[in-house]
Amino acid sequence: MLSQNTADVNTDRTYAELRRRFPTWSAVRDAPVAEIERAIALGGLSHVKAPRIAAILEALSPLGAEPDLAVLDELPDDEALAYLERLPGVGPKTAACVLLFSLGRPVMPVDTHVHRVAGRLGLIDPGVTAEAAHALLTALAGPDPADVYAAHVGLVRHGRRVCHARRPACGRCPLVGLCPSAFLV
Ligand code: SF4
Repeated sequence: MLSQNTADVNTDRTYAELRRRFPTWSAVRDAPVAEIERAIALGGLSHVKAPRIAAILEALSPLGAEPDLAVLDELPDDEALAYLERLPGVGPKTAACVLLFSLGRPVMPVDTHVHRVAGRLGLIDPGVTAEAAHALLTALAGPDPADVYAAHVGLVRHGRRVCHARRPACGRCPLVGLCPSAFLV
C-alpha cells in the first residue's frame, strides 16, 4: 500500500516513519486516521492510503487481536488472492506482492517493468493487460516460489537497467538473440 504511486526511496522512509510512530499494527489500527495520515505523508496520497490501511488492519484483526494474515493460511493461492483483492485499495499487484514476498506463495506480481519486458520478450501476447498477465506469468514461472521470485526480480531488474520503457538498450542486452522485439521498439 505504501509503495503505490511513489518511489522506492519514499516507500522505505515512509514505512520507517510509520513503524517509528506506531510500534505495533494494532497501534496503527487504533490510531485516529489523521495521525496515520501524518505518519505516511512523505509517500504521497496519504489521505487515500491512511483510511485504507486502517480498514485493512481492522479486517485482519477479528475480535480485536493483533492484525495478521492467518486467515490466508488455509486458502489456496487463488482464493487468497481473491480475499486480498476484496480489501480496500488492494489490486492484483499488491495482493500478489503480499503472497509472494510475505507468504512465499508462487504468485507473480506484475508491475510496469514485468508487464513491459514480458510483452517484448513474447512471454505474453500483445494486448494482454497487466491484470491478465498475473495468471499467465504465474503459470509460466511454475510452482516453485523461488522460481517465481527469481523471475519477478529478474524482469524488474532487466526493465530498470536495460529494457527501458523508452529506447531499450538492445545493443547491450544479453537476451537480444531470443527477443522478438530486439531493435524494433
Ligand atoms: S532485446 Fe531489446 S526489447 Fe528485447 S529484452 Fe532486450 S532490451 Fe528489451
